[in-house]
Amino acid sequence: MKVVYSPECLAYDTPGHPENPERVLSIYREMKAAGFSFTKCSPAEKKDILLVHSDEYYEKIRKAAYTGFETPPIDIKYPLLSAGATIKASEVMGFALTRPPGHHAGRDTQEGFCYFNSIAIAVRKLGKKTAILDIDVHHGNGTQSIFLGDSNVSYHSLHQAPLYPMSGLKSEGNCYNYPLFPDTDEATYIKTLEKALQVIESRMPEVLAISMGFDSYVKDPLAGQKITKEGYGKIGKMIKEMNIPSFVTLEGGYSPDIGKLAVRFFSALSSE
Ligand SMILES: [Zn+2]
Repeated sequence: MKVVYSPECLAYDTPGHPENPERVLSIYREMKAAGFSFTKCSPAEKKDILLVHSDEYYEKIRKAAYTGFETPPIDIKYPLLSAGATIKASEVMGFALTRPPGHHAGRDTQEGFCYFNSIAIAVRKLGKKTAILDIDVHHGNGTQSIFLGDSNVSYHSLHQAPLYPMSGLKSEGNCYNYPLFPDTDEATYIKTLEKALQVIESRMPEVLAISMGFDSYVKDPLAGQKITKEGYGKIGKMIKEMNIPSFVTLEGGYSPDIGKLAVRFFSALSSE
């Protein structure tokens, strides 16, 4: 699986913020050492962003007319580049190694470290029958709100509850939610994922779009799931065995081990 990566995404930083450049850099170094091949990308265009977000919201992000610790004001070029990386990943069925993440961003809302909803933008632009699998430890409330009721797309999320953003406690229409208690063991997580993948298969999507967070890891500082390094290999293998063309974008994951987790996951996902 090709890695879509532009080092410009490392160029912004808010001191003390958990969503820092070191996360992406760690994945870059480990995946490079493991022999993955890389390709660059360009920023998304405004018309791509408007497939998901309103014009008013685009202007708000362009002017950085918002505040808050979760989403400190940043240059719009970074969320545009992140969306662009995810679009490119959808074209080459690759992995967008990028930041900021996107799955908490709604049509008109920035929150939870997210500005533009990159996976949603790429899915809309691709225009195929798609299942979105979100295995970040947090519920992708933005992605769900964007696709709820969309007959061409289904959303499937495993996430810890209770935990930010406190949504996704039950399934609704085309949005399938699998809330997991804090301290859920790996075997239970894997069983739950199996169930989610069966539902995805039954919907016969042409494409699988993956919102990949590594924050269900046992040592992640922001949550309490128990996935091990080996566990990320198992998860990658399970997804691989579905044989659905897949692309991936990076959401969360805050442990210094994130690079090693990514290598386990993507090696399994792209094995022959
Ligand atoms: Zn997360």
